[in-house]
Order: sequence, then C-alpha cells, then structure tokens
Amino acid sequence: MHEVDVVVIGGGAAGVSAARRLAAARVPTLLIEARNRLGGRAWTLRGAELPLDLGCGWLHSADENEWAAVAATLGFTIDRTPPPWGTRRRTIGFPADDLADFRAASDRFFASLHGTAADAPDRPASDFLESGNRWNPLLNSLSTYISGAELDQVSVHDLNNYHDSGENWRVLEGYGALVEAFAAPLDVRLDCPATAIHHSDRHLRIETPKGDIRAHAVIVAVPSSMIARELPRFVPALPDKLAAAAKLPLGLDDKFFLHIDRPDDIPVETRLFGALDRLTGSYQLRPFGRPVIECYFGGSLARDLEAEGGDAFARLAIDQIAAHLGADIRKRLKPLFGSAWGQDPWALGAYSYARPGDAGARPILAAPIDDRLFFAGEACTVNDYSTAHGAYRTGEAAAEAVLRVFGKLGVS
Ligand SMILES: Cc1cc2nc3c(=O)[nH]c(=O)nc-3n(C[C@H](O)[C@H](O)[C@H](O)COP(=O)(O)OP(=O)(O)OC[C@H]3O[C@@H](n4cnc5c(N)ncnc54)[C@H](O)[C@@H]3O)c2cc1C
Repeated sequence: MHEVDVVVIGGGAAGVSAARRLAAARVPTLLIEARNRLGGRAWTLRGAELPLDLGCGWLHSADENEWAAVAATLGFTIDRTPPPWGTRRRTIGFPADDLADFRAASDRFFASLHGTAADAPDRPASDFLESGNRWNPLLNSLSTYISGAELDQVSVHDLNNYHDSGENWRVLEGYGALVEAFAAPLDVRLDCPATAIHHSDRHLRIETPKGDIRAHAVIVAVPSSMIARELPRFVPALPDKLAAAAKLPLGLDDKFFLHIDRPDDIPVETRLFGALDRLTGSYQLRPFGRPVIECYFGGSLARDLEAEGGDAFARLAIDQIAAHLGADIRKRLKPLFGSAWGQDPWALGAYSYARPGDAGARPILAAPIDDRLFFAGEACTVNDYSTAHGAYRTGEAAAEAVLRVFGKLGVS
C-alpha cells in the first residue's frame, strides 16, 4: 500500500492550490485525479490554433484574484479589456432605448434583491421580479449565466453573500492552461478516482482502482455534486456532509465556439443576446479580437441542448446569430467544439448555487472532520463560490489547516 502524509483528492483549481501550499511547506503530498488531465472545470483546448477555455475564462474580482499573481509568476499574459457585459456600447442587436430600459429594470431588480436583510427569511430570487415586466425573461437568462439556474431556484441570501470587486480580466493563454501549469511541480496520479475514504482507523485509507493509499490527512477537493453522489464514499458515512453537498447542486452552463471566416466586419469584444423574450444563448463576438464567437448557454436551455445532442448547440447559436447579423453569416461560421458539463462524469454541472433556504450549507460542506479530513472546492466558500479564485482560496485554507495540525504553519 502506498503511504504519504497528505492525499489531495481532485486536481482542479482547489486541489492544485492545496497541493502547492503543502509542497511549499515540504509536506509529502500526493494529488490524485480521476481524469487523464488536471484542471477540472478549468480546461483550455486549442481550436483554430487558439487556446479556448471550455470552463472558467474570466479572472473575476481580478484585482484581488490569486490566479492573476500566479499568471504573472509563470509568465502568462493578462488581458485587462473590460468584459462586454460591463459597457453599454459593447452590446449589439439591442435597440438603444430598449437596452436603457432593460438596464434600468436590471438595476431595480438587483437593488431590491441586495436590499434583503441578512436576518430576513431566505427567498427565491424570482420574488424580486416586477410582476409583468417585459424584461423578466432576460433577467432569468442572466441568472442562468450567473448561477447556472433560473431565478426561482436560487437563494437570495447566497447571491447576496457573493463578493465581486468589479474587475474582470482574462488570461490570453487560457485559464485552464494556467491552472495546469501551476500544477507542474506536483506529485500527481492521473486516472485515479478515489472511490472510498475509510476514516475510523489511526491512518486514513483511500480506495482507488489503482490500489489503496494510506495518509495522515486528506483534502477532499472534488465538486459538491461528486460528494452528493458518494464518489468518494465515506466509511463510516458522513450524512451531514452528504446533505450539505446535496443542498449545493451544480447549475449548468455550457460554451460552444464558432470560427468566423473573414471576420473583419464583425465587431470585437461585443455581446449579442440571441433573444430578449425567453431563455437565450449569449454570444461574445471576437474575444481577444480573435476570429471566433464564444456562445454561452445556461440553466434549462443548456440542459435541453445537451439532451438533444448532435449539433443542437451549433444550430441554435448559428440561427440566433444569423437572425441579428444576416443570413450570409451562416456560410462563414464553422463549429469548433463545445462543452457538455452536465454529462461530464467528474463534474455533473458547471458551478454551485444554493437553493432558497440552503445558503448555510457552504460552511457545513467546508468544515473539517477530526482534524484530518479537510474539504475544499468552489462550493465550500461563502463569498467566492462558483469561481476559480474561490476554489484556490478554499484549497489554500484547507492546506493551512493541515499545516496547523501538523505544527508546520509558517513553513513555506
Ligand atoms: C462553462 C463554465 C464557465 C465558467 N466561467 C468561470 C469564469 O469565467 N470565472 C471563474 O472564476 N470561474 C468560472 N467557472 C467556474 C470555475 O471553473 C470553477 O468554479 C472552478 O474551476 C472549480 O474548481 P474546483 O477545484 O472547485 O473543482 P473542479 O475544477 O471540478 O476540480 C475537481 C477535480 O476533482 C476531480 N474529481 C472528481 N471526483 C473525483 C474523485 N472521486 N476522485 C478523484 N478526483 C475526482 C475532477 O475530475 C476535477 O478535476 C466556470 C465554469 C464553467 C463550467
């Protein structure tokens, strides 16, 4: 049986940051990952010769984001072009008066939602929609991009706990590539899912198809969806953990990339909504000035498109884009590739949200057991959930908790 001081389970942003912190303190650590690659929901693929992110792309709260510092250290290129959703002139296909009206409706909606007192009973975010407002369907679309779920499924308290500094940057070479590069010095075992964690004996025992591993401490850095599915299974069972994970499901968001032939007449860094009156794809035209369109689908729309399969994402995207840019564009758009995070066996979704009444599940999911089973991952943070920097912070915090127990805090 393999023996090591600490096993980190899950090689996404959280697991990589945890393992890096432990390695910096010279604690023998093994990172085990179910997939044949690191990064998890941070995943950069190359299409049309370009690095394209199928998972996280934006360094949210970028001026406070640890990954920005990692990027600088590793020689990655940070792009500070503001996101198209932040500036009015970067949205097209939306008549100016209507856009102003939508923005006013959106401001009123979020102001009343953010005005909820922290000690008031939790409610679904949809309670704050103005009855009959014509922009409610588009606000619901925004919710599918923010939470991966429609407003009626999302907790207001959880939304209000989220911290956003307002700065959003990107990594030219890809956010996924950055997370992977940060993992380069680590001791990693790929294709190695943890199926069970036995935690009643003096040593912890982690079962994997490649053999058991014995450790003094474990950091579980898998998505909440996997804990809820008991992959890994805890022996003895930890019903509170399972219940907390089940209260933090992953919403669904998917990306699809189209290549544009002769792109010069297509505006760069511009947003286009496919429709204004129902759940819709959102299209980012020419990110980084590249000849591509990043198509974004969320909530039940993404779920339906995944279920339809085949070229469903590409068809809807091309139809919606052609409705705004003219039928001639069809010949110039070539499908590259897209995600299906809901069907990804090691994610089963995009990022966590809390259902109404369930915002308190995050600290329960994050709490250590017996000072030797620790938890990390984006779903574990109250203020930075659903993000790669939130994942980083939970990983680092879990590693520091291990170092405290080992009496090694301060070693780096
Ligand atoms: C479409 C999309 C767009 C996004 N956009 C942004 C964005 O712009 N900005 C942002 O900050 N965030 C964004 N996110 C969210 C961000 O990608 C995630 O919050 C973050 O990457 C999660 O990191 P993690 O380490 O918590 O989980 P993961 O990245 O899921 O890592 C967990 C790892 O555990 C592995 N694993 C699972 N089960 C087991 C097991 N039993 N044994 C061993 N390994 C296991 C998985 O394979 C995975 O590698 C986006 C996500 C998606 C899907």
